[in-house]
Amino acid sequence: TVGAIGYGSYEIYSKRHPLEQQPFDPKKRTVIVLGSGWGAVSFLKSINTDDYNVMVVSPRNYFLFTPLLPSCTVGTIELRSIMEPIRFITRHKSRNVKFYESECTDIDPESKTISISDVSDIKGAVSNTTIPYDYLVVAVGAENQTFGMAGVREYACFLKEIWDAQNIRTRLMDCVESAGFASQAPEEVDRLLHMVVVGGGPTGVEYAAELHDFLKDDLETWYPELADKFRITLVEALPSVLPMFSSQLIQYTEKTFKQNKIEVLTKTMVKEVAEKEIKVMDANKNMISIPYGLLVWATGNCPRALTRKLMARIKNAQTSPRGLLVDDYMRVSGAPDMYAIGDCTFSKYAPTAQVATQQGLYLASVFESLARIEEGKSKKITPFEYSHQGSLAYIGSDKAIADLPFLNGNISVGGVATYVFWRSVYISNMFSFRNRFLVVGDWMKSKVFGRDVSR
Ligand code: FAD
Ligand code: NAD
Repeated sequence: TVGAIGYGSYEIYSKRHPLEQQPFDPKKRTVIVLGSGWGAVSFLKSINTDDYNVMVVSPRNYFLFTPLLPSCTVGTIELRSIMEPIRFITRHKSRNVKFYESECTDIDPESKTISISDVSDIKGAVSNTTIPYDYLVVAVGAENQTFGMAGVREYACFLKEIWDAQNIRTRLMDCVESAGFASQAPEEVDRLLHMVVVGGGPTGVEYAAELHDFLKDDLETWYPELADKFRITLVEALPSVLPMFSSQLIQYTEKTFKQNKIEVLTKTMVKEVAEKEIKVMDANKNMISIPYGLLVWATGNCPRALTRKLMARIKNAQTSPRGLLVDDYMRVSGAPDMYAIGDCTFSKYAPTAQVATQQGLYLASVFESLARIEEGKSKKITPFEYSHQGSLAYIGSDKAIADLPFLNGNISVGGVATYVFWRSVYISNMFSFRNRFLVVGDWMKSKVFGRDVSR
């Protein structure tokens, strides 16, 4: 990891912030990286800029540590604590990497160019342009799956980006304050204080868990008159939540949720979303209406518009609607000199940060080998092999679950000790010492003073 690089030493500072970036060397090939998430950053940390001119294009000028995003929706952790400016990453060790805060709107694999568009509100004279590449690394992630259902984008909150966490936080506190408004009708109070989460994957489960902690630890103290009316419901279409975990941990999670009075509706599929209620179909095919105050939508991923556009351009080779097809070397099928990593691909692995990180690291090693081969030195390029390090999830009340590979099998553990392990794993995986310091500080702050209940 980049790890313990502190702020303070002038030498380190000047290396991280060279007065000006070196111009690109015309003798080197140019690699453009699309994205500043897990896959892109893992690649950028390892790519050798002595071999290539490297340029990054992303609408987000920071890296986001997504595993702790659910904690930000309730103020256990502050948003800035899990963000790292992309320029810290690109300039680290005097690396010569250019960054453009912009969205890639089109990729033309034939002319080997990308079109980019400035995303800032304040635009200069030029806000759209086309850039050529020698190699392209597509790491644009995925977007929220809505199945095209009307009402989801209008009324539900997602949980993927910084602004989603802010939005959830605002909506939650709006619901609570409106429920406490003078002469509010009892059925309206019940609706406003009903928080519904759709999707029992890890995102939905972790959000429900954080919300429970916030209600129990803080809202009940500050809003005692509303305390017994708060309700959380998790709706999942499959027979259980967290299907990727062992059955033992699924049962443990469902038992913990029951103790925490989180209602879990399995075999229940959301069919319609309106402003104040959702309609679901239960296991017996009955349609039931569920009024809600806050609706959080966490039903997984689907390809971004850019990915779909690229797939349409090379449709003979791209036959899956679920993401870019790549070979074992991360090469995009049907597009020369183009690679893809992370959630934008459709591969046999789950779309996780763990997979994206390993793919980014692997791809940097492929580029290293390509550079050596070009110099006439023989270098074997081996296919990508994923090494699963285990799955972890927070389930509330200071408990976490973990499925970990052990010898040739797997061990499943859950409880408070696993929560301590969960915290230590995430802290050690954070990008910088600064991030670690801030997150530990936030944990201590919320323990000592409670979470901030202001909007
Ligand atoms: P991302 O990290 O999403 O990055 C995509 C990047 O592309 C972003 O910088 C985005 O701004 C940029 N981009 C988007 N469109 C364009 C465009 N048109 N042009 C250029 N750039 C673009 N995984 C785990 O392994 N463990 C966990 O505990 C875990 N927890 C999670 C918790 C939450 C709440 C969520 C939402 C996900 C979690 N995941 C976890 C999954 C993990 O975050 C993703 O698998 C991971 O982010 C994928 O990395 P990526 O680089 O493919 O995409
Ligand atoms: P997911 O795909 O894992 O789960 C979505 C769930 O929504 C599924 O169980 C699906 O059956 C359900 N669903 C879909 N449509 C529905 C409907 N109409 N009504 C009711 N339920 C419906 O999605 P996610 O939880 O957003 O996770 C996305 C990816 O990120 C996954 O690969 C996951 O492993 C990863 N992730 C990992 C962690 C972690 O490791 N702790 C945390 C968050 C996300």
